[in-house]
Amino acid sequence: MAVTREQIAQRQLEKLNLSGSGLALLRKQNTFYRKKLESVTLPISSLEVFLGMPFTTKQELVDDQADNPPYGTNLTFEHDAYTRIHATSGTTGRRLTCLDTNESWAWFTFCWQEIYRAIGITREDRIFTAFGFGPFVGFWAGYEAAQQIGALAIPGGAQSSEQRLHWLMETRATVLLSTPTYALRLIEVAREKNIDLRTSAIRNTIHAGEPGANVASIRKQIESAWGARCWDHAGMSEVGAWGYQCPDDQGLHLLESEFIAEVLSVDTGEPVAEGEPGELILTNLGRWAMPALRYRTGDVVKWVSTPCTCGSPFVRFPGGILGRVDDMIQVRGVNVYPSAVESIIREAPAVVEFQVEISKERGMWELHIDLEVAPGADSEAIRAGVAEALGNQLGIRATIELAEPSSLPRYELKARRFRFKTEKR
Ligand SMILES: [Zn+2]
Repeated sequence: MAVTREQIAQRQLEKLNLSGSGLALLRKQNTFYRKKLESVTLPISSLEVFLGMPFTTKQELVDDQADNPPYGTNLTFEHDAYTRIHATSGTTGRRLTCLDTNESWAWFTFCWQEIYRAIGITREDRIFTAFGFGPFVGFWAGYEAAQQIGALAIPGGAQSSEQRLHWLMETRATVLLSTPTYALRLIEVAREKNIDLRTSAIRNTIHAGEPGANVASIRKQIESAWGARCWDHAGMSEVGAWGYQCPDDQGLHLLESEFIAEVLSVDTGEPVAEGEPGELILTNLGRWAMPALRYRTGDVVKWVSTPCTCGSPFVRFPGGILGRVDDMIQVRGVNVYPSAVESIIREAPAVVEFQVEISKERGMWELHIDLEVAPGADSEAIRAGVAEALGNQLGIRATIELAEPSSLPRYELKARRFRFKTEKR
């Protein structure tokens, strides 16, 4: 029997009300959330009651850490109970430090195991993490979950891209974990070094850290160059590993056994109708040592809750993460996100790298794009084609300049290809 939406909600409610953990524990021991839970009667009688409690924002958590250094007050246990430390990548504003106990970290890696299971990764696989280990949690949990499901976990940090490719070939890795940006970068390096990626054993690539793997043109490039299936995955340091791509390509599924999602209008803060874009609000249901309740992710998604063809009962977000609330611009009354611009630029496979500067001139959004194309490609035709497609599909005027080969920045982690030159709105 398929799990119903009511049963999912019931289980979420049970987790919030778990005795010994859950909201009761937070009210007793977590200074940050005690205040937010003050007006709530525990155990809570319904999810609706829970969804009446205040939001949590990143800024609040950052301010709390600044006021209560070094780790803030969103801690349910004494400092010595914590065994893991990591931090947000700090792409916007000050970085936020996150701590986990053994138990909360086990929950984090359990979510990754669930993601592997959902997309068919097994103990037969050899999982290559093309990623250096630093403060950003990135793929750590994926690396550990690889061992936990009995697969071979291959560390791929601290090497040049060329060395990584050789190590990946030698170890006969079957799964690549990286940002989508870096999967594209490895394609470029392989081309330069005459390495045929299709002769590698890679059959699946899993991407996180930025939107991209759900952008059709990017996915097509990754799949054809690697001869592999490309999967999107989503997670956040503050919240955990929450999403995996639907095997039937119906979008990103939220792991609703471990998270509660809301999608709220960016303008009004009210819940949006299914299929409408809004900000994703997440609550995690197992990381009680440093939880996130009604956390404003800043990510924009559209949600659909009707049963999925893949058999998953979980909500899905068609198109994955569409963009960041902060990166949205309005063109003739229509919301446009950088991912939509990137999608169009990447339609031209000869585009190797690009940078976009976004500015507002006399009330009109303008894009200035530096475009680097593969040697030998008809760069003039590509330039004209990209400009025309941006105009026709998004109503955006763009000036495009061709950049010298290898002149634009390359990225291993999150790319910073979009820059705003003037104040938005
Ligand atoms: Zn599905």
